[in-house]
Amino acid sequence: MDLNNFNKQLLTRYTESECKRQLFLDLAQIKPELWYIDNRAIERIRHERLQNKFLKDLGNKFEQKVYSHLVRYIGVKYNVKDNGEVDETYLNPGIFEQFYDELIKNTNLDDIILLEFQYETPEYFFKKIFPPKNNVNEIPVNFGEQRPDIIIIGNSFNKKKKKVVELLSDGTTREVPKSEISTRFGISIIDVKNISEDHIGKKQFIEILYYLWTLASYLKEHNLDEKFFVRIDFNGIFPQYSEDILKTLHSLDDFLDLTIQLHWEQTHQVFLDIIQKIKKLWLKAPIPIESTPVNIQASCGYCYFIEDCKKTLGIDSEPCDWSLQLIPYTSFSIAQQLLSLGFKTIGDVSANIGSIKIGNTPEPLYAELPLLKLKALALINKQVVNPQQGEIHTYSIPRFTTISITFAIEKDPVNERVYAAGFYVDMVVSGKSPFGGIFNNWWKIWKDGLNSNKKPKEIQAKLNKNLIRPLPLVEVEQFLYFLKKLKTIIIYLKGDKTKSGQPRKTTEIIYQFAIINKGHTNEEEINFTKHIIKKLYTIFELCNVVENYIVTDGYKAGTYYGPTTSLFYWSKRQLNNFQSMLERNLNSIIDDIDVWGKYLAIISYFTPSDSEVAHPYQHKKLFNVQDFAETILGFPSIISYTWHEIAKIVKKINSSNKFWVQHFNYMDFNNWYLMLVEDDIPEKKNFRSELRRQVMHKIRTINQLRKVFQIESRYVISKHARIISKEEIRRVILPTDYHSIAQVWYLFSKLTGSMEEMDTEHFRTIYPEFSIAKLAAAKVSNLIIRQSGVKKVYYEFQMKGLSSNMKIRANDRVLLIPNEKRDMSANRRMEPWKVSIESMEWLSHINGYKVITKETSADLFDMVKKDKEIPESPEDLDWYLYPTYIDAWSKKLYGKNALLQRYNMGRSWLGSRLSYLWKIRSKQELFWPENWTFSAPSVYLYAP
Ligand code: SF4
Repeated sequence: MDLNNFNKQLLTRYTESECKRQLFLDLAQIKPELWYIDNRAIERIRHERLQNKFLKDLGNKFEQKVYSHLVRYIGVKYNVKDNGEVDETYLNPGIFEQFYDELIKNTNLDDIILLEFQYETPEYFFKKIFPPKNNVNEIPVNFGEQRPDIIIIGNSFNKKKKKVVELLSDGTTREVPKSEISTRFGISIIDVKNISEDHIGKKQFIEILYYLWTLASYLKEHNLDEKFFVRIDFNGIFPQYSEDILKTLHSLDDFLDLTIQLHWEQTHQVFLDIIQKIKKLWLKAPIPIESTPVNIQASCGYCYFIEDCKKTLGIDSEPCDWSLQLIPYTSFSIAQQLLSLGFKTIGDVSANIGSIKIGNTPEPLYAELPLLKLKALALINKQVVNPQQGEIHTYSIPRFTTISITFAIEKDPVNERVYAAGFYVDMVVSGKSPFGGIFNNWWKIWKDGLNSNKKPKEIQAKLNKNLIRPLPLVEVEQFLYFLKKLKTIIIYLKGDKTKSGQPRKTTEIIYQFAIINKGHTNEEEINFTKHIIKKLYTIFELCNVVENYIVTDGYKAGTYYGPTTSLFYWSKRQLNNFQSMLERNLNSIIDDIDVWGKYLAIISYFTPSDSEVAHPYQHKKLFNVQDFAETILGFPSIISYTWHEIAKIVKKINSSNKFWVQHFNYMDFNNWYLMLVEDDIPEKKNFRSELRRQVMHKIRTINQLRKVFQIESRYVISKHARIISKEEIRRVILPTDYHSIAQVWYLFSKLTGSMEEMDTEHFRTIYPEFSIAKLAAAKVSNLIIRQSGVKKVYYEFQMKGLSSNMKIRANDRVLLIPNEKRDMSANRRMEPWKVSIESMEWLSHINGYKVITKETSADLFDMVKKDKEIPESPEDLDWYLYPTYIDAWSKKLYGKNALLQRYNMGRSWLGSRLSYLWKIRSKQELFWPENWTFSAPSVYLYAP
């Protein structure tokens, strides 16, 4: 705990969490008796977080780097340490007076720049926030001194704005009159932060405001405000830049140009609000701790007071008596809504949530109801709770997997560095699969071939006796090369004895690897990235051969049926980490011909090209296991779902608290810092090995969880949730002679189409209550089929209450299906279930619409009666309305006589030229055209 508890961290913590409880407890740390009446100690966190000075050291290093350029400026003042670095200097009113004289007398001196100057925080500032009350004159917090990195005193900035505005010590602002300009000097503050430009925000600006306010009070307290004033402009953060950019710093203006300046209006209001909140808390104090509400959120896991808050929420009692705020992913607003309805505990939610009356107006709570019930039940019963059969048919993970690659990519968010990566390959084919036998034999032959060092030709002869597609010798040699390269690949054969002595039921191939970034520099991340690309390339090539040759004949002549590769990860953040790492290091990847080739081969799994358009079918190849757990299952976890907590519940797998912090899914990156700062080489290696082991533990565990979900929760996964094949993935990519604009245009259209299709499927297959609350579905009442002529029918029904909000209108084509048909595949068989809306009439007495459809030849009632899987009669079923979606545009772009195929539009050299000018690809290439004849439409489109 910092002895000076009122510091800039207190303010920034609140800016991030917006939790009043945290603010209150932070304020009360040193003098609790002035703040709360409870006579109890605050619960301490169970596992002390790793503290590491690495970040601070990196920050200091960057500051010194920046200073090394600034010290050449005229008017710069600083002290020097023995090692030549800028040291801190004490600032007092006398020194301020000296600076004033200097600026007044030396007319050639525009500004004085102070590096690392420290001043006392004036009591005056705190007395305003904590005014004396009820005989308490004491300031109820401890505070230290202020040391901004750079203070600029002078008037050169005056000419940059029409008005010069100052901050007064009471927090108000005032325009500095022209008459004062010659006698008063403005002060600005700039802090140097070793963080990237896009990470600069409210949090950093609040620190600057704290400096500005305390400085304004300091000037006032020491009667210096007649000579100086604090500017509201030209303050900000100087973020992380490369040495090349720092070298361009030749003047104060250059420095200011690279500074991210604070926007006064927006940021100052935030600061004022915090100060007001603190003041109010003080005026109310002392109060009971529990009277300050908790704001449970995912980031609470890193809060120092988490255990205390859990105690407040009843964690020491039985789960049914815990506050409902502990239900995972229950936002503050949902919790408030439940509390206002009289629900208090998890027991209340589990017992009475069904009694909540669904109103006609959409409320965020309605969509949450089914999952809230599940989560509450899981907590009460201390076990996993699955939805009922038929409630959900999710597509978030496939039902079966033959080749899976589970990956984890850990990032240090502060320095934007990926520091650990791991991949776990698991190939297993069920005995029932048509290619199960071929798979077993394939690996038997390879295991034997490896063990007895057989020649490729011998292996080929044996394999080909077993395969439908003959395997060429060159492929055998390559596969052998891959296997030897991967070294630690494990081949378990069906019938081999397991550790317990039982024969294995299936053949299973496992390969895992994890690597740790050796340092924090750009160069080290480049090497690390290249290493991953090379390794992944080998893995994917190995999987390709398996996919291509372990096959049986497909339904159509000339097609094959075999295993497919899919990728799994836990949390979207992992995929983003990977993609952003590739993006950051793209130039170095391009410059390395070997790596660039491998990159192009693997990237199709993530993005189809370097065009930065995500693959339209990415969601059918890469699966977020966390998404499945979070949206479908109830786990007895509080606040959030983490893979390590779930693994403990469902597989009794323990994970290290030091690496895997409670409530968080990623590794505590301080562990990596420990490795970085370690100078002892053997010890450094030990740290690295341990990090590697931990990443492997993570990917292995997520792989196990995925399997558990696929087996135990199979019935909630849609029958049609399958992994897309390589061919289907490739089919989306236009032939290589199509120019980049055509490629990106078509991909984008496919991507939009497939995203909309995914949404439509999601709403159809998730809980109907959820979709209705999201206005993406309606429950149909009083459904009547009416005859129209001999063969035609039409339907009449009502959409009442919340369902009447579904976003449809006349002429829309919608799906009218009973609950039992929600898991239908979006193919031609879906067509008869689609109806077009003829009219919608609002009937106030039923509080809903009377809807009439257009005529159709499909008799839905008859179709239900003929369906053997639906025993009930159509009148007794629950019917729903869902939107439909067809990707009409992509076909118009590329297909039979589509736009890109007409007038050479997709292949026109003019298109290539424009792509080159627009820099669409990461690697720009343009060759001379074969001839200079172009179609008029392509000229019109690409070179008007
Ligand atoms: S744990 Fe969460 S709710 Fe409790 S004080 Fe910290 S931020 Fe607030």
